[in-house]
Amino acid sequence: MILSAQCQVCKGNAISLDLKVKGFDIWRCADCGLRIVNPQPSPRELQTWYASFFASGIEGQAYAQQEEQHLEFARRSSRFLARRLEHGRLLDIGCAHGHFMHEMQLAGWDSIGIELDEGAADVARKRFGVEVSVGEAEQLLKTMGGFDLVTMWANIEHLRDPVSVITQSFSVLRKGGKIVISTGRLGGVLESVIRGYSMWYDPPQHLWYFTQKAMRILLEAAGFTEIEFHVSLCGHLYDSIWEVCRILKHSTLLVPHVLTYSSDKRNLKAAVGTEMIVLGSKPAGRQDGSR
Ligand SMILES: [Zn+2]
Repeated sequence: MILSAQCQVCKGNAISLDLKVKGFDIWRCADCGLRIVNPQPSPRELQTWYASFFASGIEGQAYAQQEEQHLEFARRSSRFLARRLEHGRLLDIGCAHGHFMHEMQLAGWDSIGIELDEGAADVARKRFGVEVSVGEAEQLLKTMGGFDLVTMWANIEHLRDPVSVITQSFSVLRKGGKIVISTGRLGGVLESVIRGYSMWYDPPQHLWYFTQKAMRILLEAAGFTEIEFHVSLCGHLYDSIWEVCRILKHSTLLVPHVLTYSSDKRNLKAAVGTEMIVLGSKPAGRQDGSR
């Protein structure tokens, strides 16, 4: 699929070819900073790719063998939400093997998942007894509704049409419901110093790369309010080591930035953070995404 010459998030016309990664073209919007893989792989190509991903995993390590990491992530994420939300009905888009849904069920939530890969969905059902619908979120959301929370953990960057998924997520939420999205974050200092820097550039797995500005525009256009960003450095050890190596390599260029921001830990995080968790609310007075 070849995307149009207009930015699908901010509708600006200043999009142009920016990078080439693993043979894929990545385009950038000069207005909101969004980057996208263009042209995008077909649904069939993606299904084939995910089937092999869940079978063999990244770096040859099977997804299923990273059990401890998945459990730890699920526990951390459910604790993050428990501090902020009451119990209710959860939709987890891109639920993979269902660890997060399971943790949320233990915490009293009623959970349903969406997963593109049939094999991964099967593991989730058998392992945790959770309910999972298989297919593209773009299609499945049309038949759903009545949720208090929609979560997308490291999923939005994988979607072919995040604009449609976010708009539909707004529609499937009850009034006052929340959306929680985690993804990579472009726009940090590293990226301005090292051209093309981001561990998130990983097509065909990742197709969309957001700045905070682009994410805010996307959520507000769908109708979400009270948008909150929690920025952090990438949590995986492998990525952290890789990141330190890259930083050292460019240390002379980075020193002035580090000195500027190091007076306040929060500033430093905001300057170099490569991941973000974003929260948005559906206002209590509105029922759907129509304007
Ligand atoms: Zn844009």
